[in-house]
Amino acid sequence: MSQPGAEPRRILFLFSDTGGGHRSAAEAIIEALNLEFPRKITCEMVDIFKEYAPPPFNLAPRIYPPLSRLPRVWGMGYRLSDGPRRTRFFYNVIWPYIRRNLRTLLEEHPADLVVSVHQLINVPVARLVSMHRLPFITVVTDMVTTHAAWYATRATHVIVPTEEAFRNGLKVGMKPEQMTVIGMPVADRFCQLQDARPVLRARLGWPEDLPVILMMGGGEGMGPLEEMAEAIDDSGVKAALVVVTGRNRVLRARLEQRRWKIPAFIYGFVHEMPAFMHASDMLVTKAGPGTISEAFIAGLPMILYSKMPGQEDGNVTFVVESGAGVWAPEPAEVVATVRCWLERPEERWRAAHVCRTLARPQAAREIARLLARQVDVK
Ligand code: UDP
Repeated sequence: MSQPGAEPRRILFLFSDTGGGHRSAAEAIIEALNLEFPRKITCEMVDIFKEYAPPPFNLAPRIYPPLSRLPRVWGMGYRLSDGPRRTRFFYNVIWPYIRRNLRTLLEEHPADLVVSVHQLINVPVARLVSMHRLPFITVVTDMVTTHAAWYATRATHVIVPTEEAFRNGLKVGMKPEQMTVIGMPVADRFCQLQDARPVLRARLGWPEDLPVILMMGGGEGMGPLEEMAEAIDDSGVKAALVVVTGRNRVLRARLEQRRWKIPAFIYGFVHEMPAFMHASDMLVTKAGPGTISEAFIAGLPMILYSKMPGQEDGNVTFVVESGAGVWAPEPAEVVATVRCWLERPEERWRAAHVCRTLARPQAAREIARLLARQVDVK
């Protein structure tokens, strides 16, 4: 247990900006640690691909957005590499090449506990960290269709978001006592009471007398966001459109030049997503786990228009089977669902209710408490 006046314990978080979800997850947990254990723990975040991976792995954050435009290639890679033996083989082959960089990482960022929210590095980091006799905890950040590589059997503990992810872990050799089902970590500001919708709309400059359709494609503005937004605009539905393009500047510029037929508000990367979600009536989005978990908390029913094959397949099933949203990969299907939810609002209210039942607003704090126990902080 940490004593009063004792040095704070150090936790090193490994993530990468491949998409926006890993950063959001790490930041949510760090925020929860600061709220639950002020001044007792210091946290550092390192983009492991950008800062410590040798070429070509260091290109991962840059390759991810273009690769996401080739979903078939991604899906094939995901399927072909999935399986404990294949995973072991792959990491054994690259181990001599990456070992030195990982060792440097630990030397330059000494810590009492290492936490990974980026699944692809778990196996080699677990190997190195166990040699240094350090605890290593990983947080799985997709909901259902998890990959064998995400479960490092040498990890001290693995936090998973759903029972399905727990069962998948058992299939690839994890022990039941090595995993805990908690949920996806979401930033505390999503869990705070928001202003009433008219107040939020007035502040954001959005119309108060029209339903608002919020559209986004993860941190990178991925998937056919433009096509879907244009289809909704061309349909002439009585609603306003809010399109968040994230870090996709090219898309933002293109959308800003369009002559919109319905009221449209185009944004780049926004930092007040909770307000955006609470001020909207429905969400049209790529099936990113971060966005979905945040929408659950905001009680925002969703239309999922694209997914990264493999890891996000299960996110779609999870949302659709629970009744929190609809899978609509074609523009016409998106428009049909939007129309249906505008004409029969009781259907979207039902989905909104389901969202609230699936919400795990305490997940980040629960994860924080588990990490704190690992470094003897109470
Ligand atoms: N996000 C944000 N501002 C933006 C776009 C996205 O804060 O303008 C956040 C979003 O709230 C979520 C994350 O970025 O927390 C996206 O994560 P997700 O897992 O949905 O998708 P990814 O980008 O990882 O594919």
